[in-house]
Amino acid sequence: MLLNKSVQLPEKMDCLRLAEQGMTVQGQISLNQIQSISDMILNPKEEIQISLSFGRDAQGFCFVNGKLNASLVVTCQRCLQPLRLSIESECILSPITKPFEAEALPMPYEPIMLEGGRWLNTYALVSEEILLNLPYVPKHEEACCQAAEGEDEQTVSTGEGDQKSVNPFHDLADKLNKATTEKS
Ligand SMILES: [Zn+2]
Repeated sequence: MLLNKSVQLPEKMDCLRLAEQGMTVQGQISLNQIQSISDMILNPKEEIQISLSFGRDAQGFCFVNGKLNASLVVTCQRCLQPLRLSIESECILSPITKPFEAEALPMPYEPIMLEGGRWLNTYALVSEEILLNLPYVPKHEEACCQAAEGEDEQTVSTGEGDQKSVNPFHDLADKLNKATTEKS
């Protein structure tokens, strides 16, 4: 079974069965399914392209080789205009069902916790990969940023009186910190 690229991937996949069968699954997930980034993206209807190859290595470890392509539109933190970011990411994961199993994983595997002993949560996987690859403070290149020629104090009119004082990337920073802490 090789899913077509236009197929929506399910939230949960039977990781152990797919690994036994050595399957590669390709498909997409709508950005609006990924809750962790919903506050910061301006293009929730676009799709993330994903390829997941499952297998078992010579030492008996199950693995998932994940590749992801996404195009996110976020707000430039300098000029407050839309900024499109391309994210390409690849990860090599090994599923675990108990936290201590992470210790036993050889390089280069990153642990990923299965739900209910066998289910891979694809939304959680994609969320983590995107958060890891987003810049801490997204900005246009100097040359194309509308605020680059002015000084930082200059306010760029967005056509609306209120500019959000809440920076969604503060949330992101928290998440990133947590993700890093969990991994170490
Ligand atoms: Zn800008």
